[in-house]
Amino acid sequence: NPFARAQYLLAAHNHRQLPPDGGFEVAFAGRSNAGKSSALNALCQQNALARVSKTPGRTQQLVYFAIPPHENRYLVDLPGYGYAKVPQDLQAHWQAFLDAYFGSRAALKGLVVVMDIRHPLKDYDRQMIGYAAERGLPAHALLTKADKLGRGAAANTLQAVRKELSGLYGDSVSVQTFSGESKQGVEQAREVVGGWLAL
Ligand code: GDP
Repeated sequence: NPFARAQYLLAAHNHRQLPPDGGFEVAFAGRSNAGKSSALNALCQQNALARVSKTPGRTQQLVYFAIPPHENRYLVDLPGYGYAKVPQDLQAHWQAFLDAYFGSRAALKGLVVVMDIRHPLKDYDRQMIGYAAERGLPAHALLTKADKLGRGAAANTLQAVRKELSGLYGDSVSVQTFSGESKQGVEQAREVVGGWLAL
């Protein structure tokens, strides 16, 4: 597993704090509680890797994880949406930062959107997938907590989400079921993200 050595690198609150824009990175987005930290941890076979993203003050930062021994290959944890209300000016700062990041970050090779399989494609998820599509960036949706549904129900949701997203975006968006709990789909997700990062 090429992600097993992932480690925390830095948290960026603005553009100047980002690492040099010369490598490969994949951003992870998701509403809070969707299961994004658990998905990152499962991907990297670590129990507490993404805990750092949840410390107070980090909820409006891009958290970078490096993947040694590679230089310039990163997993980027975007703040979960839906945390306690932040002041309006902070919200505006964050929106501008995110716009700039998606608009101009050359290193950004793909977006993973983590969604609770029981509540997929909320406004925020659609917005993030839209950001990626605008830039011609591939997106991959993880329908996580698949262990919470029976096989049939999980398969039905997968099919419905896939149909909707391929109708909107064609082949640039892919979808899979996932579970940080049962580890279902972890290998598949590693292949997609590893492919984008040229690992
Ligand atoms: P985040 O806010 O998106 O980072 O979500 P977390 O990864 O912290 O998960 C939120 C809650 O959902 C926690 O209580 C997790 O234990 C639970 N959870 C996350 N992934 C799964 C999963 O695949 N299956 C189940 N059953 N629970 C999960």
